[in-house]
Amino acid sequence: MTVILDTAHPAAPVDADPRMSLIGLERSGLGEALAGIGVPERQRRMRANQLWRWIYNRGATSFEEMTDIGRELRAELAAAFSLARPEIVTEQISTDGTRKWLLRLAPDVDGRRHEVETVYIPEADRGTLCISSQVGCTLTCSFCHTGTQTLVRNLTAAEIVSQVLIARDRLGEWPQALAANPSPPVGGRYITNVVLMGMGEPLYNFDNVKAAVDIIADGEGLSLSKRRITLSTSGVVPEIVRAGAEIGTMLAISLHATTDEVRNRLVPLNKKYPIAELLEACRNYPGVSNARRITFEYVMLKGVNDSPADARRLVSLLKHIPAKINLIPFNPWPGAPYECSDWQTIERFAEIVNKAGYASPVRTPRGRDIMAACGQLKSASERLRARDRRTMEAPLGA
Ligand code: SAH
Ligand code: SF4
Repeated sequence: MTVILDTAHPAAPVDADPRMSLIGLERSGLGEALAGIGVPERQRRMRANQLWRWIYNRGATSFEEMTDIGRELRAELAAAFSLARPEIVTEQISTDGTRKWLLRLAPDVDGRRHEVETVYIPEADRGTLCISSQVGCTLTCSFCHTGTQTLVRNLTAAEIVSQVLIARDRLGEWPQALAANPSPPVGGRYITNVVLMGMGEPLYNFDNVKAAVDIIADGEGLSLSKRRITLSTSGVVPEIVRAGAEIGTMLAISLHATTDEVRNRLVPLNKKYPIAELLEACRNYPGVSNARRITFEYVMLKGVNDSPADARRLVSLLKHIPAKINLIPFNPWPGAPYECSDWQTIERFAEIVNKAGYASPVRTPRGRDIMAACGQLKSASERLRARDRRTMEAPLGA
């Protein structure tokens, strides 16, 4: 494990930058911002398009770079607006090439600065960026470390989009840098896919997630098509169909159990939206087809949900739903009340599912050494920082 940046000491609350960030605004929002500094109406659309391309196509971090915008307007823009991203607190690189960034958000009105994590997973045929949609999570799935965090707030569209910008900044994935480095220095691919599988339940932050996805998928900007963006939900049934119609990404469902009794324990939201209702919503997901399958995530917990009978029930539950099954070895965290199933058990489970005609890749855990694997996010950094803080404070208290 390599820690490249480490400024991980508690920051004193700082005043918010009085300048409004232009990141996360739709084109219409950019037009309104331009109106606010007196840009004449007939120029606004053209200027908004220029800003859009600089921000999302070229990754501009200052107005100074925007050479096709006159010097005077650039100065006015810089006086009124910023292009600041959240601050990178640490960047860790796993032995397997996975990178994890701990990001510190701009201060809330009370001056507190929250943190979220973003993970990049390079593979030979794809590069996946796993982004967060909330600080913490209001749900309390019993196998998920994020679910043990009490502090929760929604991320803004800007904070969601910024995770992609920061990853591209750090990987050097903007046109200027790409000319020199057509593939990433560590191997694998640059970002080809985005998954909303970091911290938080994306469907509880519907509007901001929708706005962020629209920006990330925009063909004149970051250009990651919606077929390459996957939203993972623990099963907020009323929002699933709406998400299909209004957000339009690929869908992943955190199923994890084949009976309501077990799922109630693992994913307490199941008491509100039981398995039958959840699967009905999946059947009705707009655009679902063999070419656009729904991914069902299934975490392998020893002695809880990993029997051959579970595998058979899973297959029969998913009958008539175009589905992929993603078996996830449980990633442990300190104090977790579960263990990962044995490898043999996972293989037997996968075999039953495969024989029934479902692709069921077992997700290789990535970045476990930097606590970047599924369900491990955030809390490690919290603990590390608490320890740091105590070390820092001890001499003062002595
Ligand atoms: N809240 C959303 C998205 C974030 S969780 C959801 O629940 O779908 C992303 C995936 O990681 C989910 O499938 C989740 O169930 C899984 N996960 C959570 N904790 C895990 C752990 N300790 N080991 C393996 N996978 C875990
Ligand atoms: Fe929240 Fe997803 Fe973790 Fe459940 S698995 S607590 S929904 S982040």
